[in-house]
Amino acid sequence: PTERRTWLDRLRSGLRKTGSSLSQVFTGTQIDDALYEELEAALLMADAGVKATEFLLSDLRRRVKERKVTDPAAVKGLLADALTELLAPLEKPLVVGQHRPTVIMVVGVNGAGKTTSIGKLTRHLADADQKVLLAAADTFRAAAREQLSVWADRNRVEIVSQEGGDPAAVTFDAVTAGKSRACDVVIADTAGRLPTQLHLMEELRKIRRVIAKADASAPHEVLLVVDGNTGQNALAQVKAFDEALQLTGLIVTKLDGTAKGGVLAALARERPIPVYFIGVGEKLEDLQTFSAREFAQALLA
Ligand code: GDP
Repeated sequence: PTERRTWLDRLRSGLRKTGSSLSQVFTGTQIDDALYEELEAALLMADAGVKATEFLLSDLRRRVKERKVTDPAAVKGLLADALTELLAPLEKPLVVGQHRPTVIMVVGVNGAGKTTSIGKLTRHLADADQKVLLAAADTFRAAAREQLSVWADRNRVEIVSQEGGDPAAVTFDAVTAGKSRACDVVIADTAGRLPTQLHLMEELRKIRRVIAKADASAPHEVLLVVDGNTGQNALAQVKAFDEALQLTGLIVTKLDGTAKGGVLAALARERPIPVYFIGVGEKLEDLQTFSAREFAQALLA
Protein backbone atom coordinates (compact mmCIF):
# COMPACT_ATOMS: atom_id res chain seq x y z
CA PRO A 1 0.00 0.00 0.00
CA THR A 2 2.80 2.46 0.77
CA GLU A 3 4.46 1.58 -2.51
CA ARG A 4 1.16 2.22 -4.27
CA ARG A 5 0.83 5.57 -2.53
CA THR A 6 4.30 6.80 -3.51
CA TRP A 7 3.62 5.57 -6.99
CA LEU A 8 0.37 7.56 -7.08
CA ASP A 9 2.34 10.63 -6.08
CA ARG A 10 4.60 9.99 -9.05
CA LEU A 11 1.62 9.58 -11.35
CA ARG A 12 0.22 12.86 -10.03
CA SER A 13 3.46 14.76 -10.51
CA GLY A 14 3.92 13.09 -13.90
CA LEU A 15 0.50 14.17 -15.11
CA ARG A 16 0.93 17.68 -13.81
CA LYS A 17 2.00 18.87 -17.25
CA THR A 18 -1.20 17.48 -18.78
CA GLY A 19 -3.40 18.66 -15.95
CA SER A 20 -2.10 22.16 -15.36
CA SER A 21 -4.10 23.80 -18.14
CA LEU A 22 -7.15 21.68 -17.23
CA SER A 23 -7.06 22.77 -13.60
CA GLN A 24 -6.64 26.42 -14.61
CA VAL A 25 -10.09 26.33 -16.18
CA PHE A 26 -11.78 26.08 -12.80
CA THR A 27 -10.07 28.95 -11.02
CA GLY A 28 -12.63 31.58 -12.17
CA THR A 29 -15.81 32.66 -10.42
CA GLN A 30 -18.46 31.78 -13.01
CA ILE A 31 -19.75 28.81 -14.91
CA ASP A 32 -20.31 30.27 -18.36
CA ASP A 33 -19.60 29.60 -22.04
CA ALA A 34 -16.09 30.96 -21.58
CA LEU A 35 -15.39 28.24 -19.02
CA TYR A 36 -16.57 25.49 -21.38
CA GLU A 37 -14.60 27.00 -24.25
CA GLU A 38 -11.48 27.09 -22.14
CA LEU A 39 -12.10 23.52 -21.07
CA GLU A 40 -12.55 22.45 -24.69
CA ALA A 41 -9.21 24.02 -25.61
CA ALA A 42 -7.47 22.45 -22.60
CA LEU A 43 -8.83 18.96 -23.39
CA LEU A 44 -7.72 19.25 -27.00
CA MET A 45 -4.30 20.46 -25.85
CA ALA A 46 -4.09 17.39 -23.62
CA ASP A 47 -4.64 15.24 -26.74
CA ALA A 48 -8.06 13.98 -25.66
CA GLY A 49 -9.10 14.31 -29.32
CA VAL A 50 -12.26 15.85 -30.77
CA LYS A 51 -14.61 12.95 -30.04
CA ALA A 52 -13.77 12.49 -26.36
CA THR A 53 -13.66 16.26 -25.86
CA GLU A 54 -17.15 16.73 -27.30
CA PHE A 55 -18.44 13.80 -25.29
CA LEU A 56 -16.93 15.06 -22.03
CA LEU A 57 -18.22 18.60 -22.56
CA SER A 58 -21.82 17.57 -23.12
CA ASP A 59 -21.64 15.00 -20.32
CA LEU A 60 -20.28 17.67 -17.99
CA ARG A 61 -22.97 20.22 -18.96
CA ARG A 62 -25.60 17.61 -18.16
CA ARG A 63 -24.04 16.85 -14.75
CA VAL A 64 -23.76 20.55 -13.91
CA LYS A 65 -27.41 21.08 -14.77
CA GLU A 66 -28.60 18.04 -12.85
CA ARG A 67 -26.70 18.93 -9.72
CA LYS A 68 -27.50 22.65 -10.07
CA VAL A 69 -23.85 23.43 -9.43
CA THR A 70 -22.83 27.10 -9.40
CA ASP A 71 -19.24 26.99 -8.17
CA PRO A 72 -16.54 26.39 -10.84
CA ALA A 73 -14.48 24.46 -8.29
CA ALA A 74 -17.35 21.96 -7.95
CA VAL A 75 -17.41 21.57 -11.74
CA LYS A 76 -13.90 20.18 -11.49
CA GLY A 77 -15.19 17.40 -9.26
CA LEU A 78 -17.93 16.64 -11.78
CA LEU A 79 -15.34 16.52 -14.57
CA ALA A 80 -13.36 14.00 -12.50
CA ASP A 81 -16.55 11.89 -12.27
CA ALA A 82 -17.22 12.18 -16.00
CA LEU A 83 -13.63 11.24 -16.83
CA THR A 84 -13.68 8.29 -14.43
CA GLU A 85 -16.82 6.96 -16.06
CA LEU A 86 -15.37 7.42 -19.54
CA LEU A 87 -12.12 5.67 -18.61
CA ALA A 88 -13.74 2.85 -16.62
CA PRO A 89 -14.03 0.40 -19.56
CA LEU A 90 -10.23 0.53 -19.93
CA GLU A 91 -9.78 -0.77 -16.41
CA LYS A 92 -9.27 -4.50 -16.64
CA PRO A 93 -6.60 -6.72 -15.10
CA LEU A 94 -4.38 -9.02 -17.09
CA VAL A 95 -5.46 -12.54 -16.13
CA VAL A 96 -3.09 -15.46 -16.47
CA GLY A 97 -3.69 -19.03 -15.37
CA GLN A 98 -6.62 -19.98 -17.57
CA HIS A 99 -4.22 -21.53 -20.04
CA ARG A 100 -0.91 -23.20 -19.38
CA PRO A 101 1.14 -21.66 -20.69
CA THR A 102 -0.62 -18.36 -21.23
CA VAL A 103 1.01 -17.02 -24.39
CA ILE A 104 1.45 -13.26 -24.51
CA MET A 105 2.61 -11.66 -27.74
CA VAL A 106 3.96 -8.15 -27.19
CA VAL A 107 4.10 -5.67 -30.07
CA GLY A 108 4.92 -1.99 -30.50
CA VAL A 109 7.19 0.38 -32.38
CA ASN A 110 10.82 0.70 -31.32
CA GLY A 111 11.37 3.07 -28.44
CA ALA A 112 7.86 2.72 -27.02
CA GLY A 113 9.23 0.87 -24.01
CA LYS A 114 8.45 -2.67 -25.10
CA THR A 115 11.51 -4.43 -23.73
CA THR A 116 11.47 -2.47 -20.48
CA SER A 117 7.77 -3.24 -20.00
CA ILE A 118 8.35 -6.95 -20.66
CA GLY A 119 11.08 -6.91 -18.01
CA LYS A 120 8.76 -5.27 -15.51
CA LEU A 121 5.88 -7.60 -16.41
CA THR A 122 8.16 -10.61 -16.02
CA ARG A 123 9.07 -9.45 -12.52
CA HIS A 124 5.39 -8.98 -11.60
CA LEU A 125 4.59 -12.50 -12.80
CA ALA A 126 7.68 -14.09 -11.25
CA ASP A 127 6.79 -12.40 -7.94
CA ALA A 128 3.37 -14.06 -8.22
CA ASP A 129 5.13 -17.45 -8.52
CA GLN A 130 4.49 -17.80 -12.22
CA LYS A 131 7.06 -19.68 -14.24
CA VAL A 132 7.87 -17.40 -17.16
CA LEU A 133 9.66 -18.11 -20.42
CA LEU A 134 10.76 -15.24 -22.66
CA ALA A 135 10.98 -15.44 -26.45
CA ALA A 136 13.31 -13.01 -28.21
CA ALA A 137 11.41 -12.78 -31.46
CA ASP A 138 13.00 -9.46 -32.40
CA THR A 139 15.85 -11.28 -34.08
CA PHE A 140 16.77 -8.29 -36.22
CA ARG A 141 18.20 -6.10 -33.47
CA ALA A 142 21.06 -7.61 -31.50
CA ALA A 143 20.55 -4.92 -28.86
CA ALA A 144 16.95 -5.96 -28.31
CA ARG A 145 17.98 -9.56 -27.80
CA GLU A 146 20.74 -8.59 -25.39
CA GLN A 147 18.44 -6.29 -23.43
CA LEU A 148 15.88 -9.06 -23.08
CA SER A 149 18.58 -11.51 -21.88
CA VAL A 150 19.56 -9.01 -19.20
CA TRP A 151 15.95 -8.90 -18.00
CA ALA A 152 15.77 -12.72 -18.12
CA ASP A 153 18.93 -13.02 -15.99
CA ARG A 154 17.78 -10.38 -13.57
CA ASN A 155 14.46 -12.16 -13.07
CA ARG A 156 16.04 -15.64 -13.26
CA VAL A 157 13.75 -16.83 -16.03
CA GLU A 158 14.57 -18.79 -19.16
CA ILE A 159 14.81 -17.27 -22.59
CA VAL A 160 14.61 -18.67 -26.12
CA SER A 161 16.77 -16.61 -28.42
CA GLN A 162 18.55 -17.18 -31.70
CA GLU A 163 20.83 -14.77 -33.47
CA GLY A 164 19.45 -13.74 -36.85
CA GLY A 165 16.86 -16.51 -36.74
CA ASP A 166 13.38 -16.43 -38.20
CA PRO A 167 11.18 -14.55 -35.69
CA ALA A 168 8.23 -16.88 -36.25
CA ALA A 169 10.43 -19.97 -35.78
CA VAL A 170 11.89 -18.61 -32.54
CA THR A 171 8.39 -17.96 -31.23
CA PHE A 172 7.21 -21.42 -32.26
CA ASP A 173 10.16 -22.99 -30.41
CA ALA A 174 9.43 -20.89 -27.34
CA VAL A 175 5.76 -21.86 -27.17
CA THR A 176 6.64 -25.52 -27.68
CA ALA A 177 9.33 -25.28 -24.99
CA GLY A 178 6.90 -23.50 -22.70
CA LYS A 179 4.49 -26.42 -23.01
CA SER A 180 7.06 -29.14 -22.45
CA ARG A 181 8.71 -27.31 -19.54
CA ALA A 182 5.36 -26.66 -17.81
CA CYS A 183 5.72 -22.90 -17.91
CA ASP A 184 2.84 -20.70 -16.76
CA VAL A 185 3.49 -17.83 -19.13
CA VAL A 186 5.38 -17.35 -22.40
CA ILE A 187 6.07 -13.75 -23.37
CA ALA A 188 7.21 -13.03 -26.92
CA ASP A 189 9.04 -9.80 -27.64
CA THR A 190 8.66 -8.83 -31.30
CA ALA A 191 10.32 -6.39 -33.69
CA GLY A 192 9.16 -2.79 -33.80
CA ARG A 193 10.65 -1.99 -37.17
CA LEU A 194 12.14 -4.11 -39.90
CA PRO A 195 15.36 -3.42 -41.77
CA THR A 196 14.03 -4.97 -44.96
CA GLN A 197 11.14 -4.21 -47.29
CA LEU A 198 9.07 -6.71 -45.35
CA HIS A 199 5.92 -5.20 -43.96
CA LEU A 200 5.98 -5.13 -40.17
CA MET A 201 2.31 -6.03 -39.79
CA GLU A 202 2.72 -8.92 -42.22
CA GLU A 203 5.63 -10.23 -40.14
CA LEU A 204 3.66 -9.87 -36.90
CA ARG A 205 0.62 -11.59 -38.41
CA LYS A 206 2.90 -14.47 -39.42
CA ILE A 207 4.19 -14.77 -35.83
CA ARG A 208 0.60 -14.80 -34.63
CA ARG A 209 -0.30 -17.61 -37.03
CA VAL A 210 2.73 -19.65 -36.06
CA ILE A 211 1.94 -19.30 -32.35
CA ALA A 212 -1.49 -20.77 -33.12
CA LYS A 213 0.22 -23.69 -34.83
CA ALA A 214 2.18 -24.45 -31.66
CA ASP A 215 -0.94 -24.05 -29.51
CA ALA A 216 -4.35 -23.73 -31.15
CA SER A 217 -5.76 -21.59 -28.33
CA ALA A 218 -2.83 -19.13 -28.45
CA PRO A 219 -1.88 -16.31 -28.43
CA HIS A 220 -4.06 -15.64 -25.42
CA GLU A 221 -3.02 -12.02 -25.27
CA VAL A 222 -1.75 -9.61 -27.90
CA LEU A 223 -0.43 -6.58 -26.05
CA LEU A 224 0.57 -3.31 -27.65
CA VAL A 225 3.06 -1.10 -25.85
CA VAL A 226 2.52 2.56 -26.73
CA ASP A 227 4.35 5.69 -25.68
CA GLY A 228 1.71 7.89 -24.01
CA ASN A 229 3.93 10.88 -24.60
CA THR A 230 3.07 10.70 -28.32
CA GLY A 231 -0.60 11.55 -27.71
CA GLN A 232 -2.80 11.27 -30.78
CA ASN A 233 -0.04 9.37 -32.55
CA ALA A 234 -0.39 6.68 -29.88
CA LEU A 235 -4.08 6.43 -30.74
CA ALA A 236 -3.23 6.02 -34.43
CA GLN A 237 -0.83 3.21 -33.51
CA VAL A 238 -3.46 1.47 -31.40
CA LYS A 239 -5.89 1.55 -34.32
CA ALA A 240 -3.36 0.29 -36.87
CA PHE A 241 -2.09 -2.57 -34.67
CA ASP A 242 -5.61 -3.50 -33.60
CA GLU A 243 -6.81 -3.73 -37.17
CA ALA A 244 -3.89 -5.97 -38.11
CA LEU A 245 -3.66 -8.13 -34.99
CA GLN A 246 -6.84 -7.81 -32.86
CA LEU A 247 -5.23 -6.49 -29.71
CA THR A 248 -6.41 -7.73 -26.33
CA GLY A 249 -4.66 -5.15 -24.18
CA LEU A 250 -2.38 -2.15 -23.92
CA ILE A 251 0.54 -0.96 -21.87
CA VAL A 252 0.74 2.83 -22.00
CA THR A 253 4.23 4.03 -21.05
CA LYS A 254 5.89 7.34 -20.27
CA LEU A 255 2.95 9.00 -18.55
CA ASP A 256 5.52 10.65 -16.27
CA GLY A 257 5.92 14.19 -17.46
CA THR A 258 3.74 14.12 -20.55
CA ALA A 259 1.42 16.96 -21.55
CA LYS A 260 -0.66 14.47 -23.51
CA GLY A 261 -2.18 12.25 -20.82
CA GLY A 262 -5.62 13.04 -22.24
CA VAL A 263 -4.96 10.44 -24.90
CA LEU A 264 -6.46 7.84 -22.57
CA ALA A 265 -9.79 9.63 -22.89
CA ALA A 266 -9.45 9.47 -26.67
CA LEU A 267 -8.67 5.75 -26.41
CA ALA A 268 -11.68 5.13 -24.20
CA ARG A 269 -13.95 6.87 -26.69
CA GLU A 270 -12.50 5.62 -29.94
CA ARG A 271 -10.81 2.27 -29.27
CA PRO A 272 -11.60 1.01 -25.77
CA ILE A 273 -8.98 -1.71 -25.45
CA PRO A 274 -8.12 -2.62 -21.82
CA VAL A 275 -5.11 -0.82 -20.39
CA TYR A 276 -3.47 -3.56 -18.34
CA PHE A 277 -0.64 -1.39 -17.12
CA ILE A 278 0.67 2.14 -17.27
CA GLY A 279 4.29 3.20 -16.97
CA VAL A 280 5.45 6.29 -15.15
CA GLY A 281 9.20 5.77 -15.11
CA GLU A 282 12.08 3.49 -15.93
CA LYS A 283 12.28 1.62 -12.66
CA LEU A 284 10.86 -1.83 -12.00
CA GLU A 285 8.09 -0.58 -9.72
CA ASP A 286 7.04 2.07 -12.23
CA LEU A 287 4.69 -0.24 -14.09
CA GLN A 288 1.36 -0.39 -12.29
CA THR A 289 -2.21 -1.43 -12.94
CA PHE A 290 -4.51 1.21 -14.36
CA SER A 291 -7.30 2.67 -12.27
CA ALA A 292 -9.77 5.04 -13.96
CA ARG A 293 -10.54 6.91 -10.73
CA GLU A 294 -6.88 7.29 -9.76
CA PHE A 295 -5.96 8.45 -13.23
CA ALA A 296 -8.79 11.01 -13.44
CA GLN A 297 -7.95 12.36 -10.00
CA ALA A 298 -4.23 12.54 -10.76
CA LEU A 299 -4.97 14.38 -13.97
CA LEU A 300 -7.05 17.02 -12.19
CA ALA A 301 -5.01 17.16 -8.97
P1 GDP B 1 11.61 -0.69 -27.03
O1 GDP B 1 12.45 -0.22 -28.17
O2 GDP B 1 10.17 -0.48 -27.30
O3 GDP B 1 11.92 -2.05 -26.56
O4 GDP B 1 11.90 0.35 -25.86
P2 GDP B 1 12.78 0.22 -24.54
O5 GDP B 1 12.17 -0.73 -23.59
O6 GDP B 1 14.20 -0.02 -24.92
O7 GDP B 1 12.58 1.68 -23.94
C1 GDP B 1 13.01 2.85 -24.61
C2 GDP B 1 13.39 3.89 -23.56
O8 GDP B 1 12.24 4.34 -22.86
C3 GDP B 1 14.34 3.37 -22.48
O9 GDP B 1 15.28 4.38 -22.20
C4 GDP B 1 13.43 3.12 -21.30
O10 GDP B 1 14.11 3.22 -20.07
C5 GDP B 1 12.41 4.23 -21.46
N1 GDP B 1 11.11 3.95 -20.82
C6 GDP B 1 10.34 2.84 -20.92
N2 GDP B 1 9.19 2.98 -20.20
C7 GDP B 1 9.24 4.21 -19.64
C8 GDP B 1 8.33 4.97 -18.80
O11 GDP B 1 7.23 4.55 -18.40
N3 GDP B 1 8.76 6.22 -18.45
C9 GDP B 1 9.96 6.74 -18.87
N4 GDP B 1 10.28 7.98 -18.49
N5 GDP B 1 10.79 6.07 -19.65
C10 GDP B 1 10.45 4.82 -20.03
